Amino acid sequence: MPYDDNGIFAKIIRKEIPAKIVHETDTVLAFEDINAKAPIHILIVPKVPVESVNDLQDDHAQIMGEVLLAARDIAKQLNIDEKGYRLVINTNSDAGQEIFHLHVHLLAGRKMTWPPG
Ligand code: AMP
Repeated sequence: MPYDDNGIFAKIIRKEIPAKIVHETDTVLAFEDINAKAPIHILIVPKVPVESVNDLQDDHAQIMGEVLLAARDIAKQLNIDEKGYRLVINTNSDAGQEIFHLHVHLLAGRKMTWPPG
């Protein structure tokens, strides 16, 4: 599936549609999930046009590292770093990926179950 420049997250990155932004750098944007699955549910998005983990190229290594560093910073900012949080990347249909711009879910604020559903 080719990258859709008119997709929801592409528009959020370009600030064409609103989102509750919690963290932004030159390369990464993080905002609240519109349909939260936990008391804290943030989506951390690299600003490069990549559909999924399957589409990552070797030269995305730096920005994907920055995505994880953003997760670290947001966890500290929201004071959930000690208690804990879960990071999830859904890829394609078995995992339930709905939006084809790579994103990391940061979930927190309740006890998580394992294994996930
Ligand atoms: P996934 O199923 O991993 O592709 O996750 C997509 C996520 O994007 C879901 O949790 C949706 O609730 C969320 N979502 C969809 N549209 C928006 C939006 N406009 N703003 C924030 N989150 C959204």
